[in-house]
Amino acid sequence: MAHRNLIIIGSGPAGLTAALYAARANLKPLLIEGFEAGGQLMLTTMVENWPGFRDGIIGPDLIADIRAQAERFGAEIVRGQVSAIDLQRRPFSVTVGETKYSCRSLVIATGASARLLGLPSERTLLGHGVSTCATCDGYFFRGKPIAVVGGGDSALEEAIFLTRFATHVTVVHRRDTLRASKIMQDKAFANPNISFEWNSDVEEILATGKEVTGMRLINNRTGERKDIPVDGVFVAIGHTPNTALFKGQIELDSNGYIVTHQGSCTSVTGVFACGDVQDHVYRQAITAAGSGCMAAIDSEHYIDGLPQHLGEDPPVQSDVPSGAGDSPDFGAPLSA
Ligand code: NAP
Repeated sequence: MAHRNLIIIGSGPAGLTAALYAARANLKPLLIEGFEAGGQLMLTTMVENWPGFRDGIIGPDLIADIRAQAERFGAEIVRGQVSAIDLQRRPFSVTVGETKYSCRSLVIATGASARLLGLPSERTLLGHGVSTCATCDGYFFRGKPIAVVGGGDSALEEAIFLTRFATHVTVVHRRDTLRASKIMQDKAFANPNISFEWNSDVEEILATGKEVTGMRLINNRTGERKDIPVDGVFVAIGHTPNTALFKGQIELDSNGYIVTHQGSCTSVTGVFACGDVQDHVYRQAITAAGSGCMAAIDSEHYIDGLPQHLGEDPPVQSDVPSGAGDSPDFGAPLSA
């Protein structure tokens, strides 16, 4: 079993920034990048809100640059899907395929996946008129009609935000009542540039080559089909945090996100979380990177407080009550 000071799981801006900082702190981190390496930025084209790039930068290029920067300082990056994890014993263990690693400290940066409608066109048009992030991509739709799919707070928040750019925003919702909070509903209903298509499913996103031209809706009550011309489709039907591996071992909130406190600390001492896996509010590449930096510094401080030799970690001590992740009553947070 290969033993490490620090293992980082996830290779979006949070995980890579954690690797960069940990490498520069001489922790020789190992980052396991997963099969969807690079995270959500790999699904975007131009990123115009990452500070320092006046003319923007292509999402995958940004990831490649942060990756190379982390490697320059000694971060080791391996590809593979983590299949098992044990946070009940110390050192922690992480299994990737046939290889088992152990580590003194762990940073979880596995992100969250935007839920998609499941249409074949949707993935191919991601970054080319289909988006899951209004803050990132709204600006590209100045003076154009667009649609937002969903009926929750995210959908309405995005619709309201997008009226700053778009000529008109059509909200497509599968029911005739919204899930969103009353206040968001009031704001959306009062906005003259937002209209609603109720009881409607998106049957297809229409495109010419790689350019969205409209969407075909089907009314799920009447079966009636309708084409709406739009230049962009924002899918806002929620996110799923990638936490299945950690369920029962670490505190999760009722939506499955890792609960952090005092910076990036989790309910298990020595385990830190950063990026979208613990943030359902900001969800930006730059906030993910910032929290990755925090996780690396928190981990460094934690490791600094351990005995010098890798073999002298404190004895096994599970911080996690049984049922963790399922129970809202989790008790007081532990500090690292
Ligand atoms: P959400 O509340 O789970 O809403 C998801 C919406 O997408 C629902 O309206 C749902 O329809 C629809 N949907 C789900 N799967 C679909 C599918 N396959 N096809 C079509 N429609 C589908 O997710 P969210 O809006 O991202 O919000 C997540 C959490 O963050 C919530 O607690 C929310 O209050 C919070 N949030 C708050 C704010 C704010 O306060 N400003 C902003 C954003 C998010 P149904 O309604 O029919 O299920």
